[in-house]
Amino acid sequence: MDRQTEITWEELHAGLRTVRTRRWFLWLLILVYVPLMMVALAANDAKRMVVIAFVMWLLLLIVAVAMMALARCPRCGHCFHMSGYLFRPVRRCFECDLHLTADKQAKKNKPENGSQSDLPGRKK
Ligand SMILES: [Zn+2]
Repeated sequence: MDRQTEITWEELHAGLRTVRTRRWFLWLLILVYVPLMMVALAANDAKRMVVIAFVMWLLLLIVAVAMMALARCPRCGHCFHMSGYLFRPVRRCFECDLHLTADKQAKKNKPENGSQSDLPGRKK
């Protein structure tokens, strides 16, 4: 099956939106760590609250990384952020080189025309 010739702009947009949402979730989770620890340290039972907050944060981090690692590229179907067994949160698909914002750039270039030939980076 050749997915690269069957994909529409809507499929590309929906797939890349999922990838972007999962990326934002991970980055926000990382950013929330210091404020979370400050709140836990300010609690009455600080030691216990820090341990609870850290364990909850760590479990959410594992889930966020797994969700991001398993996000599929809408064009080629491979995991967007995986290079073999390595997790790399870069902005391009390792398999087909699709950029994270390819749907937005395609829409900017041809806003009135949804033709599939305008999709970026087609290889076949
Ligand atoms: Zn791909």
